[in-house]
Order: sequence, then C-alpha cells, then structure tokens
Amino acid sequence: MREIQIGGLVSFTTIDYPGKLAAVVFLVGCPLRCAYCSNPHLLNVGDGEYDPEKVFDWLKSRVGKLEAVVFSGGEALMQGDTLIEYMRRVKNLGFFIGLHTNGFYPETLNKASEIVDWIGLDYKATRNKYPELVGQNIAYDHMSRSLDLWLETGKDLEVRITCDPRHITKLDLLEIINDLQSRGVKKIAIQKYVPHFEDNEHGTTPEQRNQFFNDDNLRNEINTKFDSVIWRE
Ligand code: SF4
Repeated sequence: MREIQIGGLVSFTTIDYPGKLAAVVFLVGCPLRCAYCSNPHLLNVGDGEYDPEKVFDWLKSRVGKLEAVVFSGGEALMQGDTLIEYMRRVKNLGFFIGLHTNGFYPETLNKASEIVDWIGLDYKATRNKYPELVGQNIAYDHMSRSLDLWLETGKDLEVRITCDPRHITKLDLLEIINDLQSRGVKKIAIQKYVPHFEDNEHGTTPEQRNQFFNDDNLRNEINTKFDSVIWRE
C-alpha cells in the first residue's frame, strides 16, 4: 500500500479542533478546484514533502502535550484506506481525531467514521451554484450524502460556509441555512472570504466581502436557528 502523502504540518493550534489543543496534518490532492482555494499548492496528488513515519514519530512525542490531531488538505479522504489506516494508528496513540473535509467521498467518510471523532464539513454554495464554484458537477450531491451519513453517526460536526461574494448572496446563504436547519445541524461557522495572496484577479471589494458580517438582521436571524454559530471574520 502506498504511504499517505503529507504536504504540510501545523504543530500547534487552538482553533482547528473545537476546545482541544491540536496539530494539523495536511494531505496533498483534491478533486475540486474552488475559486477561493487557500491551499493551491496542495491540490495536485504528488509526492508529499513530509515522511509519514517521521510525522508519526513526532506525533508520538506530542502525547500528553496535545489532545487532538486534525487531518486536512487538500482533501484528506482522497487518500482512502491508506489514510484511514494512518488515522487509526494516530488514534491508538490516544489522540482525538478531527477531519476537515469537502464531503466529496461519502463512502470513505463512512468507513472513517469509526475512527474520526469530529469533522468540519464545507457546504460551499447552493446546489445550483456548486458547479461554478468548485468545478465539479456532482460535488453537491456527494457533500449532501456525506452530511447525512455523518449526522446519522451522531458524532460532533461543524458545517462551514465560506461567503465568497462571487458565488454566494445573502439569499443563497439563507437557503443554505434553512437546508442545514431542516437536516438537524446544530453547529455552523460562517467564514469570511479572504482572497489568496497570489490571487490578483479576484475582483472583490472589502465591502462585498464584509456584507454578510455587517448585516445585524441577517446575523440575528441565523444565530437563532442553531445551538452554535461562529462568525469567522
Ligand atoms: S476543497 Fe478545499 S482544498 Fe479543495 S480546492 Fe476547494 S478549497 Fe481548495
């Protein structure tokens, strides 16, 4: 079996797994091509820069100092069973396991649900606008299936919506919110679109990017619908 391909590592974070001190392992490869991607260097599957066994040994040295390890990307689940086996080894060290995912691999997520304790799932746009944002026609249906599968596990979940004004309006946001509420999602995060530093052609203004966060009526309406709403500005 091919080793997992790791393209990055954050050794300490308090914001990537709710309430826990964590490390983040970034895996290479992603089936999507989102207009706002903040990790373009991780998109293509290739040889990772980090030796997975050295990362594992380092994680072992963090036992008792960190509480969780989060797998991110790219799209970590693209690495399938190889990733699941690696996560199992990390969990056996005593860590909580987190996963940031775009939901493109529901069957793999289902397999991983035995090991993963918490996920942050991207819900990127309304169903109609998904293809233009991510460059994939079937991505919405896959994400939707992943969301339903995860909800069935009863495990912890944060659904994340990044408000890129080129692909989402306030009405779109409310449509997404209503869908999440009707499915029984309890915790969401609404994230500001921040252009990647190399993207000189995004064509958005601060006013457009801030519009979701400056609208008190919108915020209040959304805040009442969930147990937890994080506004990441
Ligand atoms: S899913 Fe994430 S890593 Fe993949 S292209 Fe979109 S933003 Fe980038």
